[in-house]
Amino acid sequence: MDTKGDRYYIDVRGISIEVVRKDIKHFYIGVHPSNGRVRVSSPLRLDDDAIRMAVVSRLGWIRRKQAEFEGQVRQSHREFVTGESHYFAGRRYRLDVIEQDVPPTVRLLNNTKIGLSVRPGSDRAKREAVFHEWYREYLRSRLPPLLEKWEPKLGVKVKEVRIKRMKTLWGSCNIRAKRIWLNLELAKKPNSCLIYVFVHEVVHLLEPDHNDRFHQLMNMFLPQWPIYKDKLNTAPLAHENWRY
Ligand SMILES: [Zn+2]
Repeated sequence: MDTKGDRYYIDVRGISIEVVRKDIKHFYIGVHPSNGRVRVSSPLRLDDDAIRMAVVSRLGWIRRKQAEFEGQVRQSHREFVTGESHYFAGRRYRLDVIEQDVPPTVRLLNNTKIGLSVRPGSDRAKREAVFHEWYREYLRSRLPPLLEKWEPKLGVKVKEVRIKRMKTLWGSCNIRAKRIWLNLELAKKPNSCLIYVFVHEVVHLLEPDHNDRFHQLMNMFLPQWPIYKDKLNTAPLAHENWRY
């Protein structure tokens, strides 16, 4: 055991577990998405044996999460070369990279291929930037009809919608500024997922917390939201720790 204040490590069947003891009521266990590390927050009343038992009873879940996250890391790394799979609006496409000395573009060639045209010698970072800009333009083009439909329906006014890449959130909302952030990754998802995240964030302007009222509002305005939410959590970017 490696002791460092309230934080130390125990080994449970070959898995190193970081333990943090706190004045809390409930035992909490988490697997970090990027490195698979396991961390436990434990109430002070539990001793190491009790913590060990609690971890053992969740070993199956821990291993499953670690495997899942590992798969995602592999999944999310892309070289942006011909033949690679890329997702757009819920469908998988094969990438065709065309090098030509004209301004870079991305377009759907047919139902199975996306064409990425870049200048000769463009490196991975450049190809990715062009591709992400295309995702961003796509999401931006989806926003006016969404705002037009949902603002009057919910009786709210959204000041601004911004798009950025986020690691752990599909969307977020600054209630005071009435500003909504959407994850660029939503461009890979079916349109219903975008609708779900968008409506979820707009409903936060009426109710900041995920409480009963929030769920009542979601049920009222978008009764099929649980189906959309499920879709969001399936491939290609499943992520247990995504928050909503
Ligand atoms: Zn939320």
